[in-house]
Amino acid sequence: MTARIIDGKQVAADMRAELKDEVARLKQQAIVPGLGVILVGEDPASQSYVTAKERACEDIGLYSDDNRLPADTSQEDLMALVEKMNKDPKINGILVQLPLPKGLNEADVLLAIDPAKDVDGFHPMNVGKMVVGEKTFLPCTPHGVIQLLIRSGVKLEGAEVAIVGRSNIVGKPLANMLIQKNATGNATVTVCHTRTKNLAEHTKRADIVIVAAGRPNTVTADMVKDGVVVIDVGVNRVEDATKKSGYRLVGDVDFEAVKEKASFITPVPGGVGPMTITMLLYNTVESAKRAAGL
Ligand code: NAP
Repeated sequence: MTARIIDGKQVAADMRAELKDEVARLKQQAIVPGLGVILVGEDPASQSYVTAKERACEDIGLYSDDNRLPADTSQEDLMALVEKMNKDPKINGILVQLPLPKGLNEADVLLAIDPAKDVDGFHPMNVGKMVVGEKTFLPCTPHGVIQLLIRSGVKLEGAEVAIVGRSNIVGKPLANMLIQKNATGNATVTVCHTRTKNLAEHTKRADIVIVAAGRPNTVTADMVKDGVVVIDVGVNRVEDATKKSGYRLVGDVDFEAVKEKASFITPVPGGVGPMTITMLLYNTVESAKRAAGL
């Protein structure tokens, strides 16, 4: 079997077109969803993520408030900016690009964000709501993974899912979402990590394997069953002398071999990546609707 490639760029483009229409309808009611973005320091990867997020806002008609601060910004100044955005009615979502430079306390900054504007879904109050199945902002990457599965027609109810990785931003929230008793859950989930005794035993049993380990070739063809659905969240730079940059991006899965066994698989790049920003836009639009009582 050769897998159907799940085209994350296309799914993201479809969702962004839906959001653009919604934003246009909201503008007729004088509602303009706004995202406040804070980037501290000069990290090139963070700079390009933030630029991509701001461009995506512009593309669908959102207002974005861009704040790029020097690496030596104090905790007090950063907290004061978050507080200002909390009070600003033009801002419906606040995004603090992580990681913050050394010396700044990330946990305190995330706690300071008004949970009603926490469009990344990282505030402990929103994490708690997600765990107990209350309506809240779902974290963008795991929510993007679930949208990719649903929009590809993959059945989650009753599926055996193996997640490789237990980080707070991908593995843990994804596991929580997939076990909820609702249309985007009802799966049976195993979460694997570096202390898992026999990783292949778990991935081989799974109908759906989702990998967020941050290591190339964590999942190879001998570790999955025929017809498996594979979602590769990983983004790794590997040296490639044929590229001008000297490197290329690969995921955590041995794509070429696994695609010959799978029924569906996401590529890297072009799989989960485009969905993460799309779900941030989605949360910002949701937040504006909630603020307007819609
Ligand atoms: P992380 O915080 O480093 O967590 C990695 C997790 O994978 C840990 O739980 C670790 O286990 C587990 N792990 C690592 N190697 C393993 C192995 N050989 N076998 C089993 N488990 C293993 O990473 P993250 O932030 O979740 O990100 C994971 C990957 O996804 C990275 O490549 C990142 O760049 C990518 N990512 C992509 C997007 C996107 O939008 N496309 C968004 C977020 C992250 P322990 O807990 O035991 O250490």
